[in-house]
Order: sequence, then C-alpha cells, then structure tokens
Amino acid sequence: MIQDTKQLAELLFPHVTMTPEEMEEKFPLRNLPEGAKVTRFGPSPTGFVHFGGLFPVTVSERLAHQSGGVFFLRIEDTDAKREIEGAAEGLIKTLSRYGINFDEGAVLGGDKGDYGPYRQSQRRDIYHVFAKKLVLDGHAYPCFTSDEELEALKTVDKKAEIKARDWQAEAEAQKAQMLKQREITLDEVKENLEAGNPFVLRILADGNPEIKTKFTDLVKGNLEIPENDEDFVLLKSDGIPTYHFAHAVDDHLMRTTHVIRGEEWLPSLAKHIQLFKYLGFRLPKFLHISQLMKLDENGAKKKLSKRDMGANLDDYSRMGYAPDCVMEYVMTLLNSNYEEWRMQNPDKHYTEFPFNIKKMSVSGCLFDFDKLNDVSKNVISKMSADAVYEQALAWAKDNDAELAECLSKDADYAKSIFAIGRGGKKPRKDLTTWADVKPYVDLFYDELFSIKDSYAENFSKEDIKTALSAFLDSFNIADDMNAWFDKIKAIAESMGYASDMKAYKANPEAYKGNVADVSMFLRVAVTGKLNAPDMYTVMQILGYDRVVARIKAMINNL
Ligand code: GLU
Repeated sequence: MIQDTKQLAELLFPHVTMTPEEMEEKFPLRNLPEGAKVTRFGPSPTGFVHFGGLFPVTVSERLAHQSGGVFFLRIEDTDAKREIEGAAEGLIKTLSRYGINFDEGAVLGGDKGDYGPYRQSQRRDIYHVFAKKLVLDGHAYPCFTSDEELEALKTVDKKAEIKARDWQAEAEAQKAQMLKQREITLDEVKENLEAGNPFVLRILADGNPEIKTKFTDLVKGNLEIPENDEDFVLLKSDGIPTYHFAHAVDDHLMRTTHVIRGEEWLPSLAKHIQLFKYLGFRLPKFLHISQLMKLDENGAKKKLSKRDMGANLDDYSRMGYAPDCVMEYVMTLLNSNYEEWRMQNPDKHYTEFPFNIKKMSVSGCLFDFDKLNDVSKNVISKMSADAVYEQALAWAKDNDAELAECLSKDADYAKSIFAIGRGGKKPRKDLTTWADVKPYVDLFYDELFSIKDSYAENFSKEDIKTALSAFLDSFNIADDMNAWFDKIKAIAESMGYASDMKAYKANPEAYKGNVADVSMFLRVAVTGKLNAPDMYTVMQILGYDRVVARIKAMINNL
C-alpha cells in the first residue's frame, strides 16, 4: 500500500481544492425541532415508476411530515445508460398526483433548498472532495485498467460464460487480484496517469467477515452484519460515484436522519456502514422496506416484477384508479392497524392516521387487485358528488372523449347523477375506477343509452306492454316518491300481480308476479338494465319527456 497518501491524493484529485470541513460548513446540521425526521426519495430516472416505489416513498413522506421534518427528492442519475430524458419531471408530476409532495430537492424547473444540487450528476465535485479524503486517510486506492486489459477482460468473460464456472476458484482469483492491486506504487500511478489510463477508485476494505456487527434496522429489527472485506468501487472510471459512495456522501451532507429504501439494499449495508465509518460520518437510521409480492398461478409468493400487471404506476391512471384510492390501499398494506383506524375514523384523510414504523410488515406486503378494488369502491363511495364529477371528468378527458363530452356539457346534471345514493350511512358502491363511470351513467345520456338487458322469458310481452302503457297513462313527474310508487302498486294489482311483497311471499301461486316485477318492466325500458339506481330518482333526473319516450319506444319494440 502506498505510504505517501498525500501525494497519491494530489495525483488523483489535483482539481479538488475544497476540504471536507468546508463541505460540512456549507451544509450545516439542519435547524429542526427535536424528533423531526429528514427523509428522502432517491429514484433513478429510468422513466418507469414501479408501483412498489410508492411504499418507501409514502413511508418517507409520512414520517417526515408527521414529525415536522423535511422530505426531499434526490435524483439518482449516476447511471447515464438507464436515464431517460424528462423522466425526472414525469416522476415528480406522477408522485404529486398521489399527494406526494416534496419540501425540497429536485423540483420542476430546477432545485429548491440549501442542500443541493439534488441531482447526483451535478454533485461530482462534492464526491471528489470526499474521495480525496478517503485516499488521504489510506481508505481508498486507484485501480487502473488500460484499454487492452479491458478488451481482454471482455473475452475472458465470454469464454467463462460458455464453460461451467468454478465460482470458488474465481472468487479466490478475484480476491488475489484485488490484493495485488492494492500494492500499486506511486510510480505506477504516475505512469498510468501519464498514459491517460482510466482508473476506478476502490475502497480499501479492512473488514473481517467473521466479525459481525450488531445493527438495528427500524423495520427488520436486530441484525448481525458481517464486516465487509470487498474492495468495492467508489468512483467509476468516468469519475461518477457508485450508489454506495453517493448514498454515504449525499445522505450525510443532506442531513438525512432516516434512510428509507427497498430491502434489496440490505445486502449492501455492510459496505455502507464501513463507508460511513471511514468517512467519519454518523450513521443515519435505516428502514429497509420489504419488496412487494404477488401470488403466482400456483399460489406461491413472488416479487411483483416490472412486467407484471399492476407494476407500472402510470398504468393506474389509465385504468382509472383515483390516486386517493391507491394511497388508501397503500396505507392498508403499510400499517397493520390502518383498517381498524379507518373504521373508527371513516371521514378522516389518510394523512391524519398516526403512521407507526412498528406496525410495518417485516416480511413483505402482498399485492392484490381484489383488495385494491374493494378499498377503491369504499373510498369513491365516500367522496362528494362534486369530487367524483371532477375526477371522472379529468380521467375521461384523457381516456374517453365521448364520456368527457357528455359530462362536461351540463355539470349540474352530471353531478345530480353522481349524487344518487351518496352521503348516507350506506352509500352506493357502483364505481371502483373512473372506467366504471361510463357504463354507470350511460342511461342518463341519450347518446350513450341503449337497451342492454332483456326481460326474462317467463313474463308475457302483453303483461309488460300493459304495465308500461298503464304507467304512461298515470305518470306525473310532479308526484312524490310515495304517490309515484302507489301508482305502480295499483298497476300491479290491476294485472294480477301482488302489490304487497309479504302477501306474495306467503302465497306466490296466487299471483302472476309482484310489484317488483312491474318495477323491473319499467326499469329495463327506462334504463336499459335490470340493475340501476333508484328508479324514482332516475326518472326525476331524466325528466318527463325522456321517460315517456323510452317507455313508448319499448312498447313499440316488444
Ligand atoms: N436510486 C436508488 C434506487 O432506485 C435509491 C435507493 C435509496 O433510496 O437509497 O434503488
């Protein structure tokens, strides 16, 4: 190992003039009340927002905002190959639709806050300050590779792919190679730099995997982490940091108190603990969130992968799920006592729920569309008619022009439809997604209306016609509900159908049918369906002329 680390540090990072101490001053400890949490979301802008990403992001947002802390967005764009133009902006907009808003960080149009830049690609100089420090402290060293060597490595890899690999031997060879590289001399460094050979910066890992450090993850509980002895890469040959290095530097300088991320990072924790130690940084608290699982065809649990239905968050908008419904579902999965709280607090917003880390699932949440639909129905049933109207219209504008046209031509009319069966103790639950709106409201719009269901064979056409004509003869739109229904009962009776359900049930043979059948004759004629909301209200909304026209049309078509 090179002894003159000062010279080595200067050779490798001649351009770095700032010191770590100056960095500490530039990004001072945050002045926040006791207990306030600073959390972040650090997505890679790949253009794909995984539904599972909502879990760590929601936990981060809740914990920060519930404690009066700060929640910021850091764009982890160190992997240019995976980056998609405009993806960060798309992501910010998507999350905002879900009520996830950042106090600080990479916001639309730039950065907001004193701890930036918040895009890793713009933090290169900051990383290099700490890279230089690690070299100076003897904790990091360069590994040069000439172009020829890189080529050679590629061919070795190809051959190795063909042959069965001896992993043990390879690991040993790699370890020997790593140890050899640690022995680079100052002269070799100079030669390589002069030849323009690129280098990666590696950590000099002095851990002993036999030794295990006790560590408490706030979700996973007490863990024993074996020390790291792998000289992992800190800076890639283009000077861009790896996730590990960027994570340590950024979360320290941005004063993150709680690192909330997917459990796929758990195996790297040993590296991070070591890196924080070498850098002299205080370790933040960690919450490793279990990956989202689904049941496969055989009922076995498997990871919800990118290609699975429901994995892409953007699909939910297209499918017509209201963000509030999705968030309600996420909350039910995130905290085991959420549903209980919801029953006790039916009218509160989910942000009023006291989110508790201790109630999080250690082993992983199971994604299930049926449950999402169930939750969704409940949430929509409790929305106001105005909210349903606004959201359904917004969805229709993007997804169904015909529906959008119907809904927008008379907002009050549309709202009166959505008001049916809303507001009481047992609200109607017709809508799971905004895609359900069209088949629900179609009967109220002549351009969408059609007869979808037919009468059961056991009713005679003559009876149906008689009932419909009798209704037309007596129909008065000004009737109240009782008067309206009394007339239907009278029609039933005049045709030998029971007007009283109890009497009918006691002796069904004595009747041709009952008043519910007569109502059904009307329902199919007026709504086109066997199942529809309350007929009296439907007729009031449709108005006299349309009710009469539809009944007449049915009589003519029978
Ligand atoms: N960019 C990392 C990822 O997308 C972030 C992980 C973290 O939150 O630290 O997985």
